[in-house]
Amino acid sequence: MDNFSGIDQTKAAELKKALLNGQLVHAYLFIDLDEQRAELTAQWLACAANCLGKNRPDGVCRNCQRILAGNFPDVVRIHPIGQSLSIKQIRPLKEELAKSPTESQLRFFIIAEAERLTMSAANALLNLLEEPVAPVVTILIANNADQVLPTVRSRTQILNFEQEKLPDQGAADLLAAGLSQQDIENLTDPDWLTKTAQTFYQEIVARDNLAIITAHELSQAAKNPADQKLVIIRLKQAALAASQTEQTRSSGIKMLSLLMQVDQMLYSNVSFRNCLDYLVLKFER
Ligand SMILES: [Zn+2]
Repeated sequence: MDNFSGIDQTKAAELKKALLNGQLVHAYLFIDLDEQRAELTAQWLACAANCLGKNRPDGVCRNCQRILAGNFPDVVRIHPIGQSLSIKQIRPLKEELAKSPTESQLRFFIIAEAERLTMSAANALLNLLEEPVAPVVTILIANNADQVLPTVRSRTQILNFEQEKLPDQGAADLLAAGLSQQDIENLTDPDWLTKTAQTFYQEIVARDNLAIITAHELSQAAKNPADQKLVIIRLKQAALAASQTEQTRSSGIKMLSLLMQVDQMLYSNVSFRNCLDYLVLKFER
């Protein structure tokens, strides 16, 4: 049972009820700030459907162990490689579907960090979500429904996990990052700006066409200089974090140098919108 100590008990109970009543839908979007909890709950469900024990899922039978270890052919888990979930990762699911389940009645595709689906990957996923040719439950996991492409989101049943507040980094974090007390009081919606800036960063480095749209949204929302400073700070933090990981080092460094240019541009009164567009266009090259 220890294998499942991290699941969301309430959601797990709901899902098991649906499973037992044959009422699982074929596409879910699990929204959880704690994506690991959501992913473990998805695995728990896959175990419940395939467990060989009496108390399903027991977490210890052969099937449960193989599912948890990622060694069960009918439960496929997909994670982003680098910054994005690409079409190369989604395509094999279709091929997988063409085969009938090898050991179970019901297949599970668990797709973590669904906000990182590229446009082409999302398109590949759409008909899988719409009309699966074989019994399959696809579970997408994200920490924010707004960050999942609307075409994908609208084809899923959304389950919102109990949201514990993100650790309140609060003013101290923002002060440390270079905002003044006055700036902090002037911020319109720091949580949204932070999340959207992080999405924007991911879209830029994934060369996702949505980046230019997000640039527009950010520039609309970041009306005052404090908001704009926060966006730039969040982008720098994302770039700095990326520069410290081997796989993403070069993109992080590239972005840091572009952000320094943007500092200069803002200082010279270039519009915020133009600065964000500049990041997108320069990064592409
Ligand atoms: Zn089991």
